[in-house]
Amino acid sequence: MSINLLDHDLRGLTDFCASIGEKPFRARQLLRWIHRYGESEFARMTDLAKPLRDRLAQMAVVQPPAVMSEAVAADGTRKWLVAAGAGNGVETVFIPEVSRGTLCISSQVGCALECSFCSTGRQGFNRNLTTAEIIGQLWLASRALGGGPQAGKASERIISNVVMMGMGEPLTNFDAVVSALYIMLDDHAYGLSRRRVTVSTAGIVPNIDRLRAECPVALAVSLHAPTDELRDVLVPINRKYPLKELLAACRRYVESAPTDGAEENSAPSNRVPELFAHKWQREGSPRDFISFEYVMLDGVNDSLEQARQLIGLTRDVPCKFNLIPFNPFPDSGYRRSRPAQIRAFQETLMSAGLIATVRKTRGEDIDGACGQLAGQVMDRTRRTLRRSSEESL
Ligand code: SAH
Repeated sequence: MSINLLDHDLRGLTDFCASIGEKPFRARQLLRWIHRYGESEFARMTDLAKPLRDRLAQMAVVQPPAVMSEAVAADGTRKWLVAAGAGNGVETVFIPEVSRGTLCISSQVGCALECSFCSTGRQGFNRNLTTAEIIGQLWLASRALGGGPQAGKASERIISNVVMMGMGEPLTNFDAVVSALYIMLDDHAYGLSRRRVTVSTAGIVPNIDRLRAECPVALAVSLHAPTDELRDVLVPINRKYPLKELLAACRRYVESAPTDGAEENSAPSNRVPELFAHKWQREGSPRDFISFEYVMLDGVNDSLEQARQLIGLTRDVPCKFNLIPFNPFPDSGYRRSRPAQIRAFQETLMSAGLIATVRKTRGEDIDGACGQLAGQVMDRTRRTLRRSSEESL
């Protein structure tokens, strides 16, 4: 079996090079060819010695996942269905804006968390994606959009930002996601700053702490409810990690600077590549605030009383709110809050000094909006089966 080099961050490639008797700088060259230049043919990696190129061609591949289909929305949003084997597919979405281009990446085939308003959650869960399949989405999109991570200001790149907000819960596929993040941040690869890479989580508390220690990129937390009683229903993982614990983890995430190595209670991880220490110092903290995502569900979580409860709840967490008008999907059982209600909710938060924005819905006509990514999931949790038998009762 060939080794897929897309599966490896710098450390993995360095180990691979060592295993074939090559020096560490070869790993940096490989990372540049593969990611900066989007090259998959070893024969074209011209600064590698010819015998090494031949050897690599025999034992390794640069193999991104296949694209099953592609759609472009009226507003320019693009969506790819990316093959994940055995008939499964996950979705990747590119959202062009005036001052930035954001790629939304999936981390799992389906999702195990069952948030009641999310169409991915309805699909059930199949498996975690590999690092190659996660970073492969960025690799493919960079090639398709005609601009790799060339030199120049990040804001001028076609893909200037990456958000782990596609299908799946990134923090339950921790190792593969963190390796992919390392490749996104690596100056030899995509060279994105930590502020331009966001992990979104439904609130896997222990892994929020691990992320803080191992790869503290920007963090978005799917809050969606001001009380445990309601959040238990909307985001069932709340029963395991209730609001009090979640908010404490958010506070720790913003407050600490574990890369200094000076912090108590968080053993500096030996996974953090040495090389990032400088980059991280230069860029400063990306974590001066948490982004709280809050889906606006008509009559469920959108009252002004609930907005006031949120103000109290998040009082001691530096944060911004991102209100997401609910995006409908068949049989969801929910309705989007009325625009006037969303505005009033936003104003209530803002009157307490909070920053609250309303997320613009993009790519709705190709089912590319938040919570509409269904992909193609062979459900192993039998959730879809359970649901259809419940419905026929
Ligand atoms: N599992 C991660 C990543 C998903 S990100 C997480 O929960 O954060 C996608 C964001 O869209 C999350 O905040 C999610 O709760 C939200 N979302 C899910 N379904 C939605 C829908 N139908 N309409 C609007 N937002 C939705």
